[in-house]
Order: sequence, then C-alpha cells, then structure tokens
Amino acid sequence: MKTMTCKQLGGACDDEFHAETFDEIAEISKQHGMEMFQQKDEAHLKAMSKMQELIQKPEEMKKWFETKKKEFAALPED
Ligand SMILES: [Zn+2]
Repeated sequence: MKTMTCKQLGGACDDEFHAETFDEIAEISKQHGMEMFQQKDEAHLKAMSKMQELIQKPEEMKKWFETKKKEFAALPED
C-alpha cells in the first residue's frame, strides 16, 4: 500500500489515503472531496474550484494527472 494526503492530491487537509494503485487513490480522494463538498468545508471548496479550473484545460489537467501519478509511483510502499 502507498499513502498520499488530501493536500498532495490537490485537496486541502492532511487526511491520508491508502491504496495499491494511483487510480484507486484518486478515487478515494474524489470520494473524500465530495464528502467535504457536502459539508461545505471552505478549504476544500476552494481547492475544488481550483481543480474545476484545471478541468477546463484538458492539457494542463493531463499534465497534473501525470505528475501526481509519477509522485505516487515514486512513493515507498508502506
Ligand atoms: Zn481533505
């Protein structure tokens, strides 16, 4: 298993997510983001609106995704 925090994945807090693959951790982070969104957590709302901007630019979004994927791949196993 590998660990990344909400912040490392474009979020706003230090919650840790654990997963075997990047796709998995991205999914967990998304679920967490949605929960925080529903709770109207201000820090996460801000982080999310940044991500929304990124989504508008597919090239940059792709770059971001690739960077995070590499970051994940470089992490040591827990
Ligand atoms: Zn968070």
